[in-house]
Amino acid sequence: MCEVVLDKDEDRNRYLAALDDDLCMEGHGGYPSGKLHWVSGTVYPDYDAAKEAIGRMGGTDSGFDDDYAVPFRDVNGIDAKPSAKMTALENRLAALRAKRAEYVAENHVNRRQSALVGCAECGSKVSRAYIRDDDRCPVCEKDMRSDTVRKRVSSFDARIRDAGKALSKEKKAWGVRNAKKAPVKWLVIPTWHV
Ligand SMILES: [Zn+2]
Repeated sequence: MCEVVLDKDEDRNRYLAALDDDLCMEGHGGYPSGKLHWVSGTVYPDYDAAKEAIGRMGGTDSGFDDDYAVPFRDVNGIDAKPSAKMTALENRLAALRAKRAEYVAENHVNRRQSALVGCAECGSKVSRAYIRDDDRCPVCEKDMRSDTVRKRVSSFDARIRDAGKALSKEKKAWGVRNAKKAPVKWLVIPTWHV
């Protein structure tokens, strides 16, 4: 089984001929004509909905059963101005990522002045020369950064996650509002006997 996205105006016969050739070459005996059904009644709102629909039709099981292709709106291809909220969230995300990177860089254990750094986990005293770039203890592999630093990094991570979630939500809503501007494509899931 594989998932193939085709343009709405793709030459179906040419696609099927190429698929038949590929499967012959791979020793699967080719692709029987008439096996694939192009079901054009409903244009599904996005890729996932199209895939679910094909699954409901039974077209994702390998074997000699029928296969299906359905049209869907390719929301990644929407040609519309991003919403102000989307832009703001993207900027916020970029700023948070930059601040996190800067904070991590400034707080590497090897930036400390002392000759030896203690590991709170295993008690080793690690000489500066052996402190790893990834801040892990060379003996027990635990993060050697202080609680304060780790908490601060986790707090960045939580804020980045929240902003990312808010952005996905806003993108989805924007996609729904601009659905008509998304190009229609075919999702094809050909299966073959293995
Ligand atoms: Zn250690």
